Amino acid sequence: MSILVVGSVFFDTIETQYGRAERALGGAATYFAVAASFFTPVRMVAAVGEDFPPEDIAFLSGRGIDLAGLQRRSGLTGAWAGRYHEDMNQRDTLQLDLNVFADFRPQLPASYRDAQYVFLANIDPRLQAMVLDQLPAPGLIGCDTMNHWITGSRSELEQLLSRVHVLVINDEEARLLSGERNVVRAARRLLAMGPRRVLIKRGEYGVIQFSANAVFAVPAFPLEEVFDPTGAGDSFAGGFMGELARSGDTSEAGLRRAIVYGSVVASFVVEDFGMNRLRTVTKDEIEHRYRQFVALTDIDAT
Ligand code: AMP
Repeated sequence: MSILVVGSVFFDTIETQYGRAERALGGAATYFAVAASFFTPVRMVAAVGEDFPPEDIAFLSGRGIDLAGLQRRSGLTGAWAGRYHEDMNQRDTLQLDLNVFADFRPQLPASYRDAQYVFLANIDPRLQAMVLDQLPAPGLIGCDTMNHWITGSRSELEQLLSRVHVLVINDEEARLLSGERNVVRAARRLLAMGPRRVLIKRGEYGVIQFSANAVFAVPAFPLEEVFDPTGAGDSFAGGFMGELARSGDTSEAGLRRAIVYGSVVASFVVEDFGMNRLRTVTKDEIEHRYRQFVALTDIDAT
């Protein structure tokens, strides 16, 4: 089963203690789509400007991503710049230019309307809602967001959350959205806003999934060096939702496996700048690290 994603396609300028990348292909929908494409076909809804290069289009379609819903508009592709602290869980946004996203109105191609698995990656919650409005019978709806939208478009975001099944959000944003410092209390508040499951991403500390009656936690895969965490959260979501769409198994066990696949893909992304590692990683490497991940958390090993 394919998965449909709406979200940002941006050029990213990134600074970490290891170096700098200038106007690299990025954006939440891009990371999500490339990560998910290792598991299942992906359909993308987004906008790019006239400056978006043919090589990036070729890369995305080469990964089997359907770009019928990617509008090329007059103007410039959105741009984001961020700088990481020495503690890579901390970053400052230096620039956010929505450019063609500012007045983008998604129009889903007819071929997308049967979508069952949908992910509303980080972008204006109004655009996320417009995509849902055009889907007659979506099955599983996941959603992410960011501090920019939580502070700037809270009421639209809250309305949207009442329509979402799985919220995937990082710990700082969970605190901001819920008004609770403690992550467990924050998750309870977020569950009360609508989603049946809340997955809280905690950077190098991994992910915790909360539902009404269960909690499941996985660590991040231990790495000696993290070069650039950009896109780790979106790639986590791509691996997670991509695996769910592939398996069709939305039982508790199926979700837990998908969470581990998401964590595996995210662990590759941070090994190099921007999208670089996603360009070279193979499905075999993903499967190998999945097995290492299972061994890492095997509490009955002798
Ligand atoms: P992550 O590191 O997973 O939080 O995602 C970083 C990606 O989100 C980058 O590739 C950015 O281009 C994109 N991004 C940054 N700010 C925003 C925003 N306000 N709305 C949508 N996407 C954004």
